[in-house]
Amino acid sequence: MTWKRPLLIYPYSPTKKSEQLYGGLAIINPIGLEVVATAIRPLVEDLMLVDMRRETRPLADLIREFRPDLIGVSLNWGRDEYTDALIHGLPKDVTLVIGGLYATRESDDVLGEFPEMDILAIGYGEDAMRELIQRGTPEGVAGLWYRRQAGACPPEARPDKTGRGTRLPRFGGELVRNPRRSTLDVSHFRLDRSVRRYDYPWLTLKGDNIITSVGCPMVCAFCKWRENIFGEVQPWIARDPEDVVAELQETDATIVHIVDANFAHDLRRVERICDLLIERDVRHLYACEIRVNALWKDPRLVRKMEQAGFFMFMVGVESYQPRLLKAMRKGYTVKMCREAFRNLSHTHILTLGNFLIGNPGETEAEMLGVADFAADIGLDFITPNMIYAYANTDIEQWVLAQPGYRVEGRRRYVVSDQFGVEDLRRLQARIMLNFFRRHPPWIPYRKALAHPMVEKLGRERIRRAMLRSLWNHVADANFRRRALKKLAKRFRGSSKAAMG
Ligand code: SF4
Repeated sequence: MTWKRPLLIYPYSPTKKSEQLYGGLAIINPIGLEVVATAIRPLVEDLMLVDMRRETRPLADLIREFRPDLIGVSLNWGRDEYTDALIHGLPKDVTLVIGGLYATRESDDVLGEFPEMDILAIGYGEDAMRELIQRGTPEGVAGLWYRRQAGACPPEARPDKTGRGTRLPRFGGELVRNPRRSTLDVSHFRLDRSVRRYDYPWLTLKGDNIITSVGCPMVCAFCKWRENIFGEVQPWIARDPEDVVAELQETDATIVHIVDANFAHDLRRVERICDLLIERDVRHLYACEIRVNALWKDPRLVRKMEQAGFFMFMVGVESYQPRLLKAMRKGYTVKMCREAFRNLSHTHILTLGNFLIGNPGETEAEMLGVADFAADIGLDFITPNMIYAYANTDIEQWVLAQPGYRVEGRRRYVVSDQFGVEDLRRLQARIMLNFFRRHPPWIPYRKALAHPMVEKLGRERIRRAMLRSLWNHVADANFRRRALKKLAKRFRGSSKAAMG
């Protein structure tokens, strides 16, 4: 006897700001939960995956109609009032499993807040959940902690229901900690998209997201992105190009975001993926994060990526100061960066450059110089972010060793006696303004429409989508409210500075 009707829930509110990528231009599908759904779908009678950000019907109605015998909730990005109310409101006679990144790293918090939880999935959940369903019990399943209580058994196997065996308490059973499951098989990241109930937009077009590799072999001093679910450095492991392209052939999205930390670490793999995409005439626009090193080496490959459909690169440029690049351990020089963008200038691939400002020793003129550097190398968009220093990282040590510098607030921004958070925010706004003066948005607009894959997919359709996204963005009341608030702050700040 085992569970037959799992319901998986992504429990974040549609208004949660961190769930809206690029100011709401994109929403990422809950990939981790979809990986779990893909793993257990062949073992169960039916399965439902609900994403609260996209769902329009009340959850209670869905539960009543679907009649799940197990509910799995993915807590990745912390708890808030919305998630807590949702979890506490779930039916108490259905097995409740909670997993995800937050549940793994903050297990004590989750155990304390949800006494009604029967099973806690620690680490990557797909193998543990598959084994749970196969066995019909969490006993001995690596990666699962469970409470010895009725809900940790499938409904028909509950001793207190059948009258057989020892009665188990409904809540408050003893916690059993099975050993951790550390294995990670990247081939599991190929999703079965039939488990999906929603469309996920990119701009206003149909979007999709895929994982082709995990981890990163680079050693950028500020980075936590290369960590695995346990908070440990994850070695780079990649899926086979054939498998990646087969998955890409399965999606009907127009824009596909490759969410890897370092998609292009192995350039031979990238080339093979491009060759297969071109050979099979797979038509999508791809967006991914990419490093300068990958773009610098081989101009021919950059052009091939354009031909294969790569449409937008998010590049962690971070700085144009050699000493800062060195301190951040970016692994490339300013010269390499200029060459990488020279290679890109022969293509129609849009580029978004991320910069970090407020670094120790960085002057106001140097920070403002980001705009000119970015315009000179031909970036289309920029985000000048305030540098942050996570606890126990090399960058934190470096920052704290500089006189007058400290780390502030929940976001752990680096501030100094000279530049506080508000000063840096004002500088961010000036950098953006100066950049757009030199590189106005109609330049990337025209460039995008001249991309060979846009031509294949229908230029007019993409043009309308881009304009509609822009309009939706500007017309969005939340966006306008935030923009006005920011402007007011800047204005107050500038007046104070002028009076001072
Ligand atoms: S390349 Fe990206 S993911 Fe890798 S260490 Fe640097 S910032 Fe992190």
